[in-house]
Amino acid sequence: MEPHFDMTIGGKRICAEQYSPIRNPSTGDVVGHAAAGDSTHLESAVAAATHAFDTWRLSSELVRREACRAIAKVCLDNVDELSRLLTLEQGKPLKGLGSEFELAGCAAWANATADICLPAKLLQNDESGRVELHRVPIGVVGSITPWNWPLMIAIWHMVPAVRTGNTVVIKPSPFTPLSTLRLVQLIDAVLPAGVVNVISGGDDLGAALSRHPAVGKIVFTGSTMTGRKVMESAAASLKLLTLELGGNDAGIVLPDADPKAIAERLFWGAFVNSGQTCGALKRLYVHNSIYSATCDALVDVANGVKMGDGMDTANVLGPIQNERQFNRVVNLVDEARAGGATILTGGRPFGSGYFYPVTLVADIEEGTRLVDEEQFGPVLPIIRYSDVEDAIRRANGTEYGLDASVWGDNRMEAEKVAQKLEAGTVWINKHAQIAPHVPMGGIKSSGIGVEFGEEGLAAYTTIKIINAAV
Ligand code: NAD
Repeated sequence: MEPHFDMTIGGKRICAEQYSPIRNPSTGDVVGHAAAGDSTHLESAVAAATHAFDTWRLSSELVRREACRAIAKVCLDNVDELSRLLTLEQGKPLKGLGSEFELAGCAAWANATADICLPAKLLQNDESGRVELHRVPIGVVGSITPWNWPLMIAIWHMVPAVRTGNTVVIKPSPFTPLSTLRLVQLIDAVLPAGVVNVISGGDDLGAALSRHPAVGKIVFTGSTMTGRKVMESAAASLKLLTLELGGNDAGIVLPDADPKAIAERLFWGAFVNSGQTCGALKRLYVHNSIYSATCDALVDVANGVKMGDGMDTANVLGPIQNERQFNRVVNLVDEARAGGATILTGGRPFGSGYFYPVTLVADIEEGTRLVDEEQFGPVLPIIRYSDVEDAIRRANGTEYGLDASVWGDNRMEAEKVAQKLEAGTVWINKHAQIAPHVPMGGIKSSGIGVEFGEEGLAAYTTIKIINAAV
């Protein structure tokens, strides 16, 4: 009998009346059963977080920093159990840029967040008065997470909230709830009861959390479509929002780039987590003069990469996480093929799980869904261009604005292109490289606000001014 995973509310393990089976996308086997929470559980979790906030809001800087470090230690001490569980329910391999890497990232982010400070600022101190700006916690933060990097994103949401004196109710994706249920259970043991609570269930539970009047902020990572709904639900009680949404990141390879030298970095920028990464490279614009050489170099890298069941440590890429996403990727590539695009490698599902091989698609351009929409899978369309200004215009011609990248040997030229690309982050000669001290967030339909760094931490606070007469 596979294990049952309960919710954690107010420091207690809470069972549900029903449990949902969670399946391994590599095999279809049931990995475990997640508590199917309902509105009663949501009410208890918000009440527990509200109660815990009364005390946690008054905790010292030292205590909050130690709490973040304790969370990092939980991730490291339990890396074997959590990474195994993550691989089983999400599909990503244990090795490579997979589950163990994700857990290491969780610990790194938690430790780095412990060290970011938001000291009070003295805005004025003169004969007419003394004015101080303080950053104070908001209250209960509702966190809603997706299925692609379940633990990393849970940590990105929870740790800054705890660091700044808020309390949390987190609701993981119904596709990958188990690792988050277990992580929060472990974290709960090192924090005061009710500071972090987890409820699991369907999308309706996310909707109810984002409507709840006692929740002060929602941090949401997921699709743009759902992000819009969250914003609508949050409007009634004017909640603060951080929305990290979809993307269709473009990369522009300039004529002076060396295809062989950049192929490996381009590849992992696109195919990290089998392409199921918000900030992965999703459209590659390559100058006509090096188009064939770049395609060949990417095919060479693709041929050396092993995809398969994540529990086999030889594999560095895993399956698509769920059937809906799998069908979407199959359809996008089939449509591109039918439209005349050339499939350089991959292009047909294999195995019994949701396996779709690394797929490179050439002779394709805008007007095809694979280019115009976010594929969120192991497929990269490679688009030919001959004029750099035209490539910039095409790269910017999307509703999204998460990230972009530019590749070339001449740094000055690359920087000029970077200035013109419309995105929250523009990388030069790399893609999808993030760090806890560097703010990350999208523009246009890719989101509102940033995570990470001082700016990301400040988003978990409100400003309080103390303005004293002399
Ligand atoms: P999704 O929007 O379907 O679901 C995300 C979460 O929202 C889940 O927990 C889901 O249960 C919940 N939810 C669903 N309907 C809801 C509603 N009406 N109100 C509140 N919550 C609701 O996204 P997904 O398929 O899990 O994730 C893939 C998407 O996430 C992709 O578009 C990807 O680009 C995006 N993403 C963005 C980032 C980023 O940082 N920008 C990171 C990872 C993923």
